[in-house]
Amino acid sequence: APGQTPSLEVRDLTVRFAGLTALDAVSFTVAPGSLHAVIGPNGAGKSTCFNVLSGVYRASAGHVHFGPDELTGLPPHRIAALGVARTFQNIALPPYATVADSLMLGRHRLTKAGFLAAGLRLPSAAREAERHRERVQEIAEFTGLERYLDHPAAALPYGLQKLVELGRALCMEPRLLLLDEPVAGMTSDERRRTAAVIAGVREGLGISVVLVEHDMGVVMRLADEVTVLDFGRRIASGPPAEVQRDPEVVRAYLGD
Ligand code: ADP
Ligand code: MG
Repeated sequence: APGQTPSLEVRDLTVRFAGLTALDAVSFTVAPGSLHAVIGPNGAGKSTCFNVLSGVYRASAGHVHFGPDELTGLPPHRIAALGVARTFQNIALPPYATVADSLMLGRHRLTKAGFLAAGLRLPSAAREAERHRERVQEIAEFTGLERYLDHPAAALPYGLQKLVELGRALCMEPRLLLLDEPVAGMTSDERRRTAAVIAGVREGLGISVVLVEHDMGVVMRLADEVTVLDFGRRIASGPPAEVQRDPEVVRAYLGD
């Protein structure tokens, strides 16, 4: 529920690879239920930031707190269990899974009865399976994927596959959603639809969103706050209209 979404606090987050500082003491806060965009040129450290927030990479220094919980150093499944879901910049849907199956993947962490109970056909497991199916149906309607539920996901046009990836993350019932370039590679029509879905996530479901995106139109339309990274450093942050005018941001994008 929206009221239960805590704020995300990223403090002095630093990630070093051999000979390279991909993130250099980056800080930002994502207010509950808000949409925070992280932008910057290629190689700025945006995906690295997501990889730390979701537990895929370890921070070299700094901290990430999600309300009372420290995420820094937790493995990915523990972070997911706290209600943090992510999508990947490069999607890899299981080759033969239908859209319904792919969305159901997002339900796994919510399966309490477990596979033993399901295998024994216990009533609790049957009720839970029914809830999962209902939720998959709702998310399919919400994302406009309803009529593709029985289609092999990997055979859909790329833009729809990206929507499936977004839907899968939504099926996890996240409190915080990390979206890595959700409209990249989409047609302008798919972009519009996806932007509307993301706006609906924030407004209708009250989920906090961190959005990494190159499409400035989408960022300016959707973001409450923007953090700009360049070579691993935060060079600007603030409301979108302000950040867009920032001389240092203009310089970073024009590649001075
Ligand atoms: P962005 O998503 O902003 O384009 P990335 O976070 O993917 O940037 O990359 C930031 C920098 O870190 C790049 O120079 C990239 O080559 C480097 N990098 C990312 N992941 C690794 C890794 N696993 N090992 C070494 N270098 C990496
Ligand atoms: Mg990236």
